Amino acid sequence: MIKNKNLYINGCWQEALSNEVRTIYNPFDKQALVNVAEGGREDAKKAIQSAKLAFNTEEWRNFSTIERGRMVYVLGDLIEENKEELARLETLNTGKTYAESIWDMDDIAGIFRYYGGLADKNEGEGIASPNPNTQSRLVKEPIGVVGMICPWNYPLLQAAWKIAPALAAGCTMVIKPSEFTPLTTLFWTQLTEQAGFPKGVINTVLGPGHSIGAELAENPEVDMISFTGGVVTGKKIMKAAAGNVKKVALELGGKNPHILFEDGDWETAIDFILNGVFFHAGQICSAGTRVMVAASIHDQVVKHLEQRIKKIRLGNGMDEQTQMGPLISEAQLEKVSNHVQKAISEGAELITGGKKPSNPELAKGYFYEPTLLVGCTKEMAIVKEEIFGPVIHIEKFDSEAEAIKNANDTIYGLSAGFWTRDVQRIDRVSKALRFGTVWINDFNVYFVQAPWGGYKQSGLGRELGHTGLEEFQEIKHIYQNFHPSPLNWFGN
Ligand code: NAD
Repeated sequence: MIKNKNLYINGCWQEALSNEVRTIYNPFDKQALVNVAEGGREDAKKAIQSAKLAFNTEEWRNFSTIERGRMVYVLGDLIEENKEELARLETLNTGKTYAESIWDMDDIAGIFRYYGGLADKNEGEGIASPNPNTQSRLVKEPIGVVGMICPWNYPLLQAAWKIAPALAAGCTMVIKPSEFTPLTTLFWTQLTEQAGFPKGVINTVLGPGHSIGAELAENPEVDMISFTGGVVTGKKIMKAAAGNVKKVALELGGKNPHILFEDGDWETAIDFILNGVFFHAGQICSAGTRVMVAASIHDQVVKHLEQRIKKIRLGNGMDEQTQMGPLISEAQLEKVSNHVQKAISEGAELITGGKKPSNPELAKGYFYEPTLLVGCTKEMAIVKEEIFGPVIHIEKFDSEAEAIKNANDTIYGLSAGFWTRDVQRIDRVSKALRFGTVWINDFNVYFVQAPWGGYKQSGLGRELGHTGLEEFQEIKHIYQNFHPSPLNWFGN
């Protein structure tokens, strides 16, 4: 249960300075769930100040890396102990199925444990100095105060990708969850009180992006912004961060091609296409909504997809039978619906879906039927833009070269997948695709051990893996001369 619905600054729960609150709704039925504090710029400034003070204290600086790692690891244990309640809150707040939320929580527990374990394996490096009687070495130090700005689709999971490595690296933090989905971040903040972090290391502020998010991005006391969200917001953050040249790590959107070559096991691929798009109603940065199919197998693939899509059960995420929940908001529902209508007006053919479901039990929620469009060409908006909804569109191709060219013809570069049995094609295509992750005979797989991030406008930097920790570190070169002898450079 969420006991505290306020801001958490310098180890104290406090109301917003304005005393404002925001009501959080369940997207399944638009029922109000809870009122939470709605902070603003001044609250964000207080939180930043608190994180700055904590970063500069001897107490936090002098924690051994073993002890810091232990605390991060304990956060993983606390997630596991509370995973049912966390999953319930995530489902109520986002609409995703409870099974998906449980999967998220298990993953999050593993992420905290992974980075907890990594905290004391932060080895420096000796450099072969070119000069005699000298020593040269590299040490890695925490970057400082990190502002974390998170999206609504995977509220606690995306937060954990930032929090766990940042704390393991020795940073202090101010986190801002999405104003629509703050519940699990609040609950997590409550749990941190049992882990032993000094006050001020962890600060949680709730409220809108244009005030709190913008303050985090602009404030010169923040050393780094770790952001996950849309490309438009990411660009605003880059500009705002320029003031003090703070480091910016960005996980942005995607338009992810899922390519079926004629020699691939397309019947198995059908399962992966469905999982790749209809998980969380397609509200996934790596959703494989752009399905590209070799002309020779196109008709069978469409027929099978249509049959399977029509069987997807929509409903309340808390109901075990439900396979797909609602979208997050009216605005998202409208955006998805407009994309589909535009595609049809541009010449795409609707095979199934394309509207709100008629089932009266779903009438109150932001539901959209799982949708399949064919006859799409690379000029259409639906092919170019991120939909963030339960919509598959199919593009036909005639050759491997055409598939690669079209797949790369996008401003995004987050992830891509393809199906083939040809080992030489595997080598050629995986090298040719300009995406941060490429899956072969699989789709939408990620784990904490492997770095995640995008080429092109899908982002900057990488989360997860060792690289995910290094993002929160500065590298310092320390050079020592054991026998300095006089220099004659400016001598008389
Ligand atoms: P969004 O960009 O609208 O919002 C993300 C966060 O930014 C929110 O907390 C919001 O309050 C804040 N924000 C808004 N305006 C701001 C501003 N001017 N300054 C600072 N912060 C501001 O994104 P969203 O709709 O919450 O999330 C969906 C997007 O996130 C999609 O594009 C999706 O692809 C992307 N995403 C990417 C990944 C990834 O790993 N690459 C993962 C999840 C989501």
